[in-house]
Amino acid sequence: MHKAKKQYGQNFLTDKNLLKKIVSEANLENKNVIEVGPGKGALTQFILPIAKKFVAYEIDKSLKEYLDPLIEKGLTIKYGDFLNSDLNEDIKTFFNNEEVEFIGNLPYYITSPILFKVLETTNIRSATMMVQKEVGDRMVSAPNQKTYNALSVLVQYFTNVRRVMVVKKNMFIPQPKVDSVIIQIIKKPTDEHVTEKFVPFVKAAFTQKRKTLVNNLSQTFNIEKAEIHHFLKENQMDLNIRAEQISVEKFIELSKKWPF
Ligand code: SAM
Repeated sequence: MHKAKKQYGQNFLTDKNLLKKIVSEANLENKNVIEVGPGKGALTQFILPIAKKFVAYEIDKSLKEYLDPLIEKGLTIKYGDFLNSDLNEDIKTFFNNEEVEFIGNLPYYITSPILFKVLETTNIRSATMMVQKEVGDRMVSAPNQKTYNALSVLVQYFTNVRRVMVVKKNMFIPQPKVDSVIIQIIKKPTDEHVTEKFVPFVKAAFTQKRKTLVNNLSQTFNIEKAEIHHFLKENQMDLNIRAEQISVEKFIELSKKWPF
């Protein structure tokens, strides 16, 4: 019997109706699919019959007894750390550089790096992911809400994001401390030149949530406050505004005009 490993964020799902619902919401019919953390194959078993090509990454080799039998049904499985994988190379090898959909009941300790790897990988078109409810709330949050932060702005800049459903902690074995949520992101086209300025600008704006935009920008970019006052005035903005009050569209506009 496999014993769940806390260090790998192992919380397994077993409810068949829930698993089928997640896979159906992910729209994987006849699509190329990457799954991270198949575990005992809970989602994998329902994806396999409908996917076009299917590659899964699992760090825990002791789950082989559950996953290896799926190889003859068409699954390609890579044992190792997904974060160390050369994803672009794998997409070339396994999917002939075609578009890929991502799915994963993610290990919570590495949600952010996995998310950023997904965002950076051009060939990944969509991702359906289980994340901690708190993280999911941030991803869909709007300005002036308590949960609105840099993650909200970045995710909503790169993708259309949808909160699919909440999954209560008692659906997992072993049970985690908090509830989860399934989030679906679908990539939007972005302009490389805008992105180059937008990402550091947003990160700087939110450096310290309670500080004003002026203070955060001035500290991060090492610029006189007077110059930033001038910039904000030119853009008809309140000098005391905080990042949490600024919409994604306004961030795009500001970062495009940001002269520093
Ligand atoms: N998909 C299964 C389910 O829904 O029951 C398991 C989900 S469990 C929350 C997370 C899975 O990710 C575990 O199987 C764990 O071993 C695997 N994992 C953790 N860190 C990983 C990494 N860096 N790369 C690949 N898989 C990882």
